[in-house]
Amino acid sequence: MGCGSSLLPLLRFMAHDLAFRTGLAAGLGLVAAAGNLIGGYFVVQRDWPRKYLQYFLALGAGYMLAVAFVDVIPESIHLAGEQALVFVLIGYFLVHLFEHTLAPHFHFGEETHHEEMSHHHARTTILLGLTIHTFFDGVAIAAGFLVSVWLGAMIFVAVFLHKLPEGFTVASVVLASGQGRRNAILAAGLLGAATLLGVLLTSVLQSQLKYALPLSGGVTVYVAATDLLPEVNREPNWRMAALVFVGVVTVLIMQHLFHV
Ligand SMILES: [Zn+2]
Ligand SMILES: [Zn+2]
Repeated sequence: MGCGSSLLPLLRFMAHDLAFRTGLAAGLGLVAAAGNLIGGYFVVQRDWPRKYLQYFLALGAGYMLAVAFVDVIPESIHLAGEQALVFVLIGYFLVHLFEHTLAPHFHFGEETHHEEMSHHHARTTILLGLTIHTFFDGVAIAAGFLVSVWLGAMIFVAVFLHKLPEGFTVASVVLASGQGRRNAILAAGLLGAATLLGVLLTSVLQSQLKYALPLSGGVTVYVAATDLLPEVNREPNWRMAALVFVGVVTVLIMQHLFHV
């Protein structure tokens, strides 16, 4: 049909247009940021769908690790050679430093340890750690779209799958520290804003792509393997365990079918 045959070249042109891709990155960055806010909103509600959000976490862990190893890291080596792996390592330990070395107590998921959260230091360091991590969520999305629509879309899904858990984690930390709902939502909004900042800075500083992509790859590996997987393992729930593998297999199948 005439319509179909004229649509395809247009789509192909748009996929190669840089302005279109950075626009797409900004739009999806906004969606990801909204995910943080929605996650935070669930926590300040009395009844929130804990089970559903746990499933996001499990699916996200498998999907993120697969995207990092199959898409982000190989593409980084393609851009910057083997030195890209040093930046993957730096990205990994950057998050480790801020989330688990400087912060005395942090884990993904609902914060229920009120005693640990009573110290001002604990809450501030968690906020700092998560802000740095979410900044790189945004860097990852924009860097992905600078390479291709495919990579950007794969990374966006990886980021989005853990955005709700991220929002409810930070909001529950604030609530557990004795602060009100308003501050809990503000903290979730802060993570959303950091994500957007990551998208914008990466879109502006495009010449730094060969550092931005591997750094965000290392961050992705850390978040999936060190933040999310331990939470999956704490749940004696076979559905969650299975969803991790569903995440991995989804990426492999999509890679096989659509990425030529
Ligand atoms: Zn805790
Ligand atoms: Zn994140």
